[in-house]
Amino acid sequence: MSKSKERQTKLLHSDYQPPADFGAFPTPVYHASTVLFKSVAAMRSRDWQSRDSYTYGLHGTPTTFTLEEQLAQIEGGNHCILAPSGLAAIAIVDFAFLRSGDDVLIPENVYNPNRELGNWLTHDFGVTARYYDPMIGAGIADLIRPDTRLIWAETPGSVTMEVPDIPAICKAAHEKGAIVAVDNTWSAGLGFDALSHGADVVLHALTKYQGGASDLLMGALITRDDDLHRKLSVAHMRFGMGVGADDVYLVLRSLPTMKLRFEKHGKAAMEIASWLKSRPEISRVLHPAFEDCPGHEFFKRDFTGAGGLFSVLFDKRYSEKQTDRFVEALQLFKLGFSWGGAHSLCAPFRIMDDRKDWGYNGHQLVRFYIGLEETQDLIADLEQAFTVFS
Ligand SMILES: *Cc1c(COP(=O)(O)O)cnc(C)c1O
Repeated sequence: MSKSKERQTKLLHSDYQPPADFGAFPTPVYHASTVLFKSVAAMRSRDWQSRDSYTYGLHGTPTTFTLEEQLAQIEGGNHCILAPSGLAAIAIVDFAFLRSGDDVLIPENVYNPNRELGNWLTHDFGVTARYYDPMIGAGIADLIRPDTRLIWAETPGSVTMEVPDIPAICKAAHEKGAIVAVDNTWSAGLGFDALSHGADVVLHALTKYQGGASDLLMGALITRDDDLHRKLSVAHMRFGMGVGADDVYLVLRSLPTMKLRFEKHGKAAMEIASWLKSRPEISRVLHPAFEDCPGHEFFKRDFTGAGGLFSVLFDKRYSEKQTDRFVEALQLFKLGFSWGGAHSLCAPFRIMDDRKDWGYNGHQLVRFYIGLEETQDLIADLEQAFTVFS
């Protein structure tokens, strides 16, 4: 740049070009709203849906494209869209595929905000959301109407952990022309391969294991089909659901260790779940790996791994007040929602009584997330908390 420019202008413009061919492992973090075009022709012929060029920060940067591509590859898909949270990704699916007059089927044990979004669509948007028993399997065919556009599934279900027969649900849906969206967050795409079991759209709350440090919110939608992806990307664009470059970087930074973390969480969770199962205070452990979990046979057939999240039912003699005291007596397990980070968490849940009772009624339920602390210390923490009952 000519030396004659005023200093103020030099503060904004520089023609310095760093040497090319820099190599390092981290993906560069591009912060951008405005994306620069080389010519008016390039600007006029821009295609915001293309992943071969750039239009505007909302539609992607090299940083977001890199994460999308990597997530699609992990899941065995062709396309991926990033959303500002898992719940935002759920909303994108509903608004991409549902129109006034359409019907959507949602499992009773789905992540609760997904269910509440269904209620909102029913109340204010002329959609009907109906809730189904997650163990219905091929029987879902009887619920599918000509106006049923979308079927949600989640494996296992949030909090109570029933494992649905995803291939049977997908087969019935496809025979009747409905799309199946599977929330695959629990096993991070490492324990269950949703697309090859028939899902059309796979959802991940990247907030969990992909983020891996309890410090960000993000969601992803992965598909194989070009047309489904195009519909999702239109809804994503209409809502302007961009993600922050630094958060994308944090996910990229966590991915290389995700499988190791997942396996460690899963192994520790099995040890602690088995220990809890032997306690007289606990009447049942809700974990897909146990035989008394509804859908255990589908877990054995379809899954290759489990993570750190499970729930327990306390013996009926304990009131909510007593189990609240137990939860508050825990020292290493902190009280909080979400999971997938390094730290152990617990949360009491009230099971909605508008769903089929798989033996839950009358029991207090507490969900545990097993973090990366030493297992023996976590067990000692649980042991000391049980003394509140004595
Ligand atoms: C956490 C979670 C979500 C939502 O993710 P956020 O990023 O917290 O909005 C969706 N589905 C499941 C199964 C989850 O566990």
